[in-house]
Amino acid sequence: MSEDFYSVLGVDRDASEEEIQQAFREKATEYHPDVSDDPNAEEKFKKAKKAKEVLTDDEKRQMYDQMGHERFQEAEKHGATEGGRGGMGGMGGGPFGGGGGGMNDIFEQFFGGGGSRSGPQQGADLRTRLTVDLEDAYEGVTKQLTVNRPERCPDCDGEGHPPDADARTCSACNGQGQQRTVRQTPLGRVQQTQTCPQCDGEGTIYSETCSTCRGDGRVQEESTLEVEIPAGIRSGQTLRMDREGAPGENGGPKGDLLVEIQVEDHEEFDRDGDDLQYHLPISFPQAAFGDTVEVPTLDGTVEMDIPSGTQSGETFRLRNKGMPRLQRRGHGDLYVQVQVVTPEDLNEEQREALEAFAEAGGEEIDVEQGFFEKLKSSF
Ligand code: ZN
Repeated sequence: MSEDFYSVLGVDRDASEEEIQQAFREKATEYHPDVSDDPNAEEKFKKAKKAKEVLTDDEKRQMYDQMGHERFQEAEKHGATEGGRGGMGGMGGGPFGGGGGGMNDIFEQFFGGGGSRSGPQQGADLRTRLTVDLEDAYEGVTKQLTVNRPERCPDCDGEGHPPDADARTCSACNGQGQQRTVRQTPLGRVQQTQTCPQCDGEGTIYSETCSTCRGDGRVQEESTLEVEIPAGIRSGQTLRMDREGAPGENGGPKGDLLVEIQVEDHEEFDRDGDDLQYHLPISFPQAAFGDTVEVPTLDGTVEMDIPSGTQSGETFRLRNKGMPRLQRRGHGDLYVQVQVVTPEDLNEEQREALEAFAEAGGEEIDVEQGFFEKLKSSF
């Protein structure tokens, strides 16, 4: 199970909000998936972010302190993830998985507050994928990425109603935006607070709904972004684009956009971490006598010496000719595995030379011309 939020951030239980924010910034820098080599960086980043979110929200922090980690987690699991992120359901169905629609209900019931009146809320993080080829991953490149994502509705500025719509106080909640009742729950007698279903927590009813966003305050829009792909990126690594996610609530900042990178397989090179592997066919005379050959790399061809007496399957290492190391200096290596190719068709001269070669080595080979022909035609 995950650890206590205070220890995740490495702060005291009486840490101020400022200290918590500062601790989070340090963790965020350390575990930023763009920077960190830690394979669990994203997971750790998420934990730190979660801890910050809870501990910088007065109400949630109070609950957390009262209930303890386990019970708090449990209560969240039974319905709530992000308290107060109402309206997230609107973004479902996009290329990014849906938000936690309906998830905040129980959270609000148990903990009070929440709803769209609880002040600025950061928007949700969105996820997408981007495929690059090995050359791009080698060089580092700027890629265009088109995403369909929720944006603040331009026609009502996210309000959900035209600016000139008539406003009246919601009669269901008397403009409170919330309805309170006292009830018995497994956690004892608590005052429940629910977002008013009539006005959706706004406390106000408007005579008209924005026709562009149908009152949602946000619309799906296609945007093209430039993504900086750092040299050395590997498949499965995620780039975090700050403030490119879903719009926040009540003036809160946007969430982030997480871009998972997929590096395509290459025709010539196999990748193993920062190393590359290449298969080089050579002839029998090259293997026997040795030779200097040209080997392709992702940075032009280089010369490589094959020593005399090389066996098929032997591997040679070309230092620093592999992939660049992400966020570090240097490159991995290029491993060149040679394969001695046996000629399939011999001309007369080659045949005689090889027969002489065998004879000189004291080999007796029972060559039957017709035998080869027969075998070949049977395939
Ligand atoms: Zn609108």
